[in-house]
Amino acid sequence: MSKELIIQISGLSYRYEKEYVLEDINLSVQKGSFLGIVGPNGSGKSTLLKLILGLLKTQQGEIKLFNEEISRFKEWERIGFVSQKANSFNTGFPATVYEVVKSGLTKKIGLFHHFKKEDQQTILEAVDSVGLLPFLKRNIGELSGGQQQRVFIARSLVSKPELLILDEPTVGVDAQNVRSFYDMLGDLNKRLGITLMLVTHDIGTITDKVTHVACLNKHLHFHGNTHEFEEQNKNGLAAFYGYDLHLLTHEHAHGHEHGGR
Ligand code: ADP
Repeated sequence: MSKELIIQISGLSYRYEKEYVLEDINLSVQKGSFLGIVGPNGSGKSTLLKLILGLLKTQQGEIKLFNEEISRFKEWERIGFVSQKANSFNTGFPATVYEVVKSGLTKKIGLFHHFKKEDQQTILEAVDSVGLLPFLKRNIGELSGGQQQRVFIARSLVSKPELLILDEPTVGVDAQNVRSFYDMLGDLNKRLGITLMLVTHDIGTITDKVTHVACLNKHLHFHGNTHEFEEQNKNGLAAFYGYDLHLLTHEHAHGHEHGGR
């Protein structure tokens, strides 16, 4: 029996100006999967996420979310998104972990909602899921980049999303904490059953966490499960794709990024 599809993209092309930045993308995401999207800078990863999140309007091709054509889709609380910018949080901001996570509830129930007892439980569960219960009353500005990123993930979890989309979530995470960060994401996927989709530079080190990989560079060069990805990779996919997968470690990606900006 085939699994429920959370995202179905067919024949998707997009351009800001004359040149296409995405061309004929076909991609499906099954419920319960954990998809890692890789691609060099400027390969269209953010554009693809923005189209899926309805932040850009489709021009050619189709996107379906939970079997509904995106222009008719209304149940946005089923989708959580944590942007890359979340972890460049102003460290002087006077809010506790609890308060920041609580603010995520307004997405689901509106600004003038009366706080209920279950809400308190929901907040504590979300904070616990990202491993930050001991930091509940701490000011977010005192936390490390990786911990702040966990706070923003918890904030999106309070609306109990079925799909969570993350744009390079480990950019602000210290190299030694990247592994435990991915353990936490793997736990959200496995234990809570949340479908995950993330843009990452760490794919070479997390093939045990993701279930599927998509390699994007304007076109979708590869999409398949982790096993197929590793097989393809042995056959020189990375070389074809323009870089050596073994260099795609966290340290490399980040050294690269900082050097490039
Ligand atoms: P990635 O996330 O993989 O780095 P992007 O989706 O941000 O790639 O960008 C893909 C291409 O689209 C790049 O060439 C980029 O310069 C271009 N681009 C992105 N945003 C805009 C925009 N608002 N206007 C014009 N071009 C854009």
